[in-house]
Amino acid sequence: MAYDRIYNFSAGPSMLPIPVLESCRDDLMNYKGCGMSVMEMSHRSKVYDEIIVDAQRLLREVMGIPDNYKVLFLQGGATLQFAMVPANLMRTGKADYVRTGSFSTSASKEATKYGKVNIAASTESEKFSRIPAQEELKLDPEADYVHICFNNTIFGSKWSYIPDTGDVPLVADMSSCMLSEPIDVSRFGLIYAGAQKNIAPAGLTIVIVREDLLGYAPANTPIMLNYKTIADKDSMYNTPPCWSIYVCKLVLEYLQSIGGLEEMQRRNQAKAKLLYDYLAESKMFHAHVQEGSRSMMNVTFRSGNDEVDAAVAKEAAQRGMSNLKGHRSVGGLRASIYNAMPYEGVEALVAFLKEVEAR
Ligand SMILES: *Cc1c(COP(=O)(O)O)cnc(C)c1O
Repeated sequence: MAYDRIYNFSAGPSMLPIPVLESCRDDLMNYKGCGMSVMEMSHRSKVYDEIIVDAQRLLREVMGIPDNYKVLFLQGGATLQFAMVPANLMRTGKADYVRTGSFSTSASKEATKYGKVNIAASTESEKFSRIPAQEELKLDPEADYVHICFNNTIFGSKWSYIPDTGDVPLVADMSSCMLSEPIDVSRFGLIYAGAQKNIAPAGLTIVIVREDLLGYAPANTPIMLNYKTIADKDSMYNTPPCWSIYVCKLVLEYLQSIGGLEEMQRRNQAKAKLLYDYLAESKMFHAHVQEGSRSMMNVTFRSGNDEVDAAVAKEAAQRGMSNLKGHRSVGGLRASIYNAMPYEGVEALVAFLKEVEAR
């Protein structure tokens, strides 16, 4: 790989496309002749204004976000959204949560501070190895919203369908899958994502929210936790995460240059297929998640022997394939193959796993 880089299978922060990093480098000392880097400029300057306006416009174009949705650039990570969502959307005081892994569970716990949480379904007893079917969801037609985690980073599962929640707004944590494939935004009331998996460096959180859901936060909601404050000021109420928004803009330009989310999806499917096909035929390693619920971004697998898995991750790292150790709560191995992971990286991983198996 160019620049002596490694294949980094980290779940996040994770790889960024090389052309994006090259642009950062080229612009670092003197951004477009203004004599300073983007890290150093006022967020109120004309130069920066162009960057944030472009970032929002590009995100709308690339994702096809309808006009009746606001795009917010925030800080605090996806974890802060576990609180901001109920703080802003719990109008009558009850919400449905579907538990499909660690993050959806954390989100449901945080929401209990704001109102009544109904667990509409949980696959915990099956070690979160699948996503529940529509018929399994015990939805309350009077809930303020339904919360799901669309791609479960830790367990490696993903919703293969968008659940039908009737008139109840659907809220989705898309931290580890946003921009990996086209998505029909109009099916959701709110989408949020920490940027450091697939969009930009850490520090930026993106929220896409339908306008009619804004303005219901109680009066004692802190200003910075009220979506409406941020929406009314175009994400400039205070200093936004300037650098991450700039890199986000570069990532979106890169996505457009390769053909948008359709092309990104095609590439991601090809990468995931290569790895899952190998796991299907392997006698040594097995995928954790059942077919039909598998993530294209985070592939979890194991040999069944934790010591062997740890040794495999260690040897892979020595060979330039890092961060394959599974999350501490699941064990085994996990290959996060986000947008910026090249096909060659997955080829190298599969070749290595085959070699280990042959031994
Ligand atoms: C990483 C991740 C989080 C936590 O994100 P932070 O930005 O670190 O708060 C939440 N949900 C999902 C699905 C994630 O992948």
